[in-house]
Amino acid sequence: MNAAQLERLGEHLQRLRLFKSRERLEALLQEAAAKELSYSDFLDAVLTEEVSAKTAKNITMRTNLARFPFVKDLDSFDFGYQPSLDKKQLTELASCRFIEHGENVVILGPPGVGKTHLAVGLGLKAISGGYRVLFTTAASMIATLTKALNEGRLEDKLKLYTVPRLLIIDEIGYLPIDRQGANLFFQLISRRYERGPMILTSNQSFGAWGEVFGDRVIATAILDRLVHNAHHLELKGASRRKTRD
Ligand code: ADP
Ligand code: MG
Repeated sequence: MNAAQLERLGEHLQRLRLFKSRERLEALLQEAAAKELSYSDFLDAVLTEEVSAKTAKNITMRTNLARFPFVKDLDSFDFGYQPSLDKKQLTELASCRFIEHGENVVILGPPGVGKTHLAVGLGLKAISGGYRVLFTTAASMIATLTKALNEGRLEDKLKLYTVPRLLIIDEIGYLPIDRQGANLFFQLISRRYERGPMILTSNQSFGAWGEVFGDRVIATAILDRLVHNAHHLELKGASRRKTRD
């Protein structure tokens, strides 16, 4: 292959946005010549590299868009510390079938036992599965919705939380929620109820949610929608935050 042809190929690949192939073209051509690859094997090698580069880029991009507080996968979760956790149940959840079925996951437990870690781990699985994910804390979501309501932009902001296929709402119950906040939370839950699955974490048992939301009626309405069709994970034990973070 002459230099002009190589340059032209590079331009074509650039134009087609096949950046990995452009970067690797010369090496791949040399490799193909050395190994005497067939035309089909060569094309296969080029396209395989391009697809895996694009997939990795896409996953990184969607991981950034998800706004996780940290990126830790399920493989780094030590089940030895949670002997009561049903590993089979978690494997089932990691398959992302709950997303397809529009089911929720509720993770309960005291602070520092890995609720956020599991929620992030499942979120990363969802991203690998091609789903759009958004992570938020209950307090941050309610603050955003309250501000939007005051500025007359509630509809727009509700969409922010309803469009992603999977919404993770972390830390329900860490801060008390006022009546308006509880109403906004309820509106969001009602919309998601029709549209898509959520993962929720809380340090409070369901029985205490009346106090969290400052209103037993709203708490019951929220629980009705959340708990119906939900997978429950209950984490136990002492906080691992002190020793690890
Ligand atoms: P929570 O959300 O329940 O308060 P986190 O998920 O933030 O707790 O966990 C606190 C820290 O301890 C994190 O760094 C997390 O990765 C780690 N951690 C907790 N439980 C485990 C576990 N079983 N295996 C590995 N790391 C864990
Ligand atoms: Mg947490």
